[in-house]
Amino acid sequence: PPQMTGDFGTLMGWVDRFRTLKVRTNADTPHDSKVAREFGAEGIGLCRTEHMFFEAERIAAVREMILAADVEGREKALAKILPMQKGDFIGIFREMKGLPVTIRLLDPPLHEFLPQEDKDIDELSRTMGVPAATLKHKVEFLHEFNPMLGHRGCRLGITFPEIYDMQVRAIMEAACELVKNEGFSIVPEIMIPLIATVKELAVLKANAVRVCDEVIAKYGVQVEYLIGTMIELPRAALTADEIAVEAEFFSYGTNDLTQTTFGLSRDDAGTFLPSYVDAGILPEDPFVSLDQNGVGQLLKMGCERGRSTRPNIKLGICGEHGGDPESVIFCHKIGLDYVSCSPFRVPIARLAAAHAALGGGTDQTK
Ligand code: PEP
Ligand code: MG
Repeated sequence: PPQMTGDFGTLMGWVDRFRTLKVRTNADTPHDSKVAREFGAEGIGLCRTEHMFFEAERIAAVREMILAADVEGREKALAKILPMQKGDFIGIFREMKGLPVTIRLLDPPLHEFLPQEDKDIDELSRTMGVPAATLKHKVEFLHEFNPMLGHRGCRLGITFPEIYDMQVRAIMEAACELVKNEGFSIVPEIMIPLIATVKELAVLKANAVRVCDEVIAKYGVQVEYLIGTMIELPRAALTADEIAVEAEFFSYGTNDLTQTTFGLSRDDAGTFLPSYVDAGILPEDPFVSLDQNGVGQLLKMGCERGRSTRPNIKLGICGEHGGDPESVIFCHKIGLDYVSCSPFRVPIARLAAAHAALGGGTDQTK
C-alpha cells in the first residue's frame, strides 16, 4: 500500500531490524487479513468468530441450536453452519499464506443470540415444530441480568459442547483441505476464551483434541495444531501456572481483564470515567492505555507463572492495548512474544516495539 513505500517504508524497514516483539493483527475477514498483511502484520493474534454467527442465514440456525431439546437437535442445527464456517477459515488461512492464525472459539454473551421478538419465536416454532410457549419459556429461563459476567466464552463451550466441536471441525477441515490440495503449511492455533480455572480448559481441550484428531485421520494428512487460552480474568492470571499445564499459548485479553480487575464495565466506561481522568484519579482511560500498576502486574505474573510450568509457552496480547504504544513497550518489557492489534495500528505497534527494543518508554509502575 502507499503507506508502506517512500520514506515511511524506509523507516519501517529500520524499525523491523531492531524490534524483537512480533506484531500480529486482530482480523476476522479475508479483507481485514489482507489489509493487515500489507501493513506488515506477521500473523493473526485474534480472529473473533462472533460476527460470523450473526449473518442472516446463520442466526436462525444458532437460535435453533440454543433452543433445541437435545444433542441431536443441536447438532442438526449446527450442521447447517459448518460448511459456511469452514469457508470463513479457508478464506482467512489463504490470505495469511502460512503465517500463524489464532482463532478464538465463540465468545458472545448468550443473550445476543436469543430471539427477542415474538415473530422470531413464532418462526422458530414453525421450523422446529415446537410450541411457541415452550420456546418462550426457554428464552426466559436463559435471560441474565449481567450477561458480560454470565453465560459466555468457555462457559458456553461447557454447556453447549456442540458449538465448539463444530468450530474446531471447521478450523481443522479448512486447514487439512488447504494442506492437502494447495500445499499450504499451516498450524492453526485454537484459542479458548474466558477461562477461569484449568478444569474448564482441560475439558474443552480434550474435546478439541478429539475432533482435531478425527479430522486429521479423515484427511490422512499431517497437520499440527496448538490449543491455548485467553487470560482475561484475574483468576486465570493468578493460576497461570496451573493453566499452563493445558495451554500451549496464552493471549492476554486486556479488555476483559481491565473490566474485571477494576470491576468497571467496558461497555459503560463513558459515563463517569472521563471525570475520573479529569480529576486525576486515573492518569488515563485504562481501556485505552494499559494500567501498568494493576492490570499490567497481572500480565507480568501470568507470564512468570505460565513460564514456570511451560518454559516455551507462547505469550501474546490481543486486547485493544496491543496497539497502544506505551502498552506495547510494557509488553516488550515483560517478555511477550507478540502483540496483536487492529490492522491500521500495526505500523504504530511495529514502531513502538522497536522503541522498546532500544530502551524507550517510561516505567509507569510505582
Ligand atoms: C479482550 O477481552 O481483551 C479481548 C480481546 O476479547 P473481546 O474484546 O472480544 O472480549
Ligand atoms: Mg474478551
